[in-house]
Amino acid sequence: MELKQYLEAIDSKQERICRLSDEIWGYAETAFSETRSAKALADCLREEGFAVEESICGVETAFAASFGSGRPRIGILGEFDALSGLSQKAGVVRKEAETPGASGHGCGHHLLGSGSLAAALAVKAYLEDGHPGTVIYYGCPGEEGGSGKAFMARGGAFSDLDCAITWHPSTVNAVCKDSSLANFQVLYSFRGISAHAAGCPEMGRSALDALELMNVGTNFLREHMLDKARVHYAITDAGGYSPNVVQDSAKAVYLIRAPKVGQAHELYQRVSKIAQGAALMTETEMEQQLIKSCANMISNRVLEKVLYQAMQDVGVPSYTEEEYETAAAYTATAPAGAGKTYEELMEDHLIPENVRFLKERRGSRIYDFIVPYEEVHLVKPGSGSTDVGDVSWMCPTAQINTATWAPSTPGHSWQIVSQGKSSMAHKGMLFAAKAMALAAMRLMEDTKLLEQAKQEYREELEGQTYIPIPDEVKPRAISQIR
Ligand SMILES: [Zn+2]
Ligand SMILES: [Zn+2]
Repeated sequence: MELKQYLEAIDSKQERICRLSDEIWGYAETAFSETRSAKALADCLREEGFAVEESICGVETAFAASFGSGRPRIGILGEFDALSGLSQKAGVVRKEAETPGASGHGCGHHLLGSGSLAAALAVKAYLEDGHPGTVIYYGCPGEEGGSGKAFMARGGAFSDLDCAITWHPSTVNAVCKDSSLANFQVLYSFRGISAHAAGCPEMGRSALDALELMNVGTNFLREHMLDKARVHYAITDAGGYSPNVVQDSAKAVYLIRAPKVGQAHELYQRVSKIAQGAALMTETEMEQQLIKSCANMISNRVLEKVLYQAMQDVGVPSYTEEEYETAAAYTATAPAGAGKTYEELMEDHLIPENVRFLKERRGSRIYDFIVPYEEVHLVKPGSGSTDVGDVSWMCPTAQINTATWAPSTPGHSWQIVSQGKSSMAHKGMLFAAKAMALAAMRLMEDTKLLEQAKQEYREELEGQTYIPIPDEVKPRAISQIR
């Protein structure tokens, strides 16, 4: 049977898959609290005959579902966590919360998890036909601010794979070719001595002073760090509401990023020295707690080319006039600046031919084309981070984007939540599922390709060292970071 025929397994179950995605959109559970979302996906895989292992690697909502036996062993990664504060009514083309203050799927991970599941179902159909190999669906929680995959990598989840593939919802259809920034997220807590701020200020030692000095020190550090490095902080405890009390407690969560995990680690050590200095200056005590870290993405051209070919062979979905009109309505809501077009965002990352290719298509109501694959990678890390990076240190890994949202839809926005259950989102998800499944089957058929991918992976990692999250650090839900 021709490999493409196994994609019928996705067509025949597309209603079930879209329903599953919509269901998870409704749960909108944030990092490491995704019990209902993980269960919905795991239950579906179990019904389909997959062997499901729950709460793997010490992460409650992480799971692995496998089908088949022996090698090759190919992993397909699925996510399902949402973002806090992004509740939004589906299909409403203006900002309007469904439940004010609640969370929402502002990164499309409900589609991500369900689309990857659909891909696994098609590979299962292929394996059932007597082909050797194992497909493993990884339920990866806590991507947003949690780096769930880094905890799973630490637990050895991906070490025995021949390769891993995944996707992310987007405004475009393209193979992801950029690296991503490694990061460390750290909670710095200062403890001082409270006192009457007017009556006996000499008795007090201000934790808030320490925190402010730390932030000032870090802002001076910016001049002396790598161009691509980024440091951001959120003050999570300013000590209280009373200016007439010397604050004895102050805390900030720092997110420290750099192109390579070693560089990010070094910067993290420098920021920690500033925190120590601030404590020394103010005679307060400082405690630092690593919340999580994630590694930069190691790209793999062999896998990328297989995925690109598969995307072309499956072909982009076709759209109705109504879908084009709806997409245009969403694009019109994109704020100036935040709603940059793909080519504006990617200007420094694309070869001139592709910049031209995209310019010619500027104004498309839906990006209903595939961005040509670039053989030559401009060595520019993207500006974001993803814990897919950690998987890419464990085995050859690649990912694609498909168009699930209107052009210029900003990341982590109400527009994404609003479009999350649209027919365009569903089409993009099923397209990604088919492309990933076809690529996985081709890699299972042609083990020489897998060998080449592994060779490239070994070459890329030569001389580089992975920095895992220390064993004592446990995954924590947002509400537990105090
Ligand atoms: Zn995100
Ligand atoms: Zn995301």
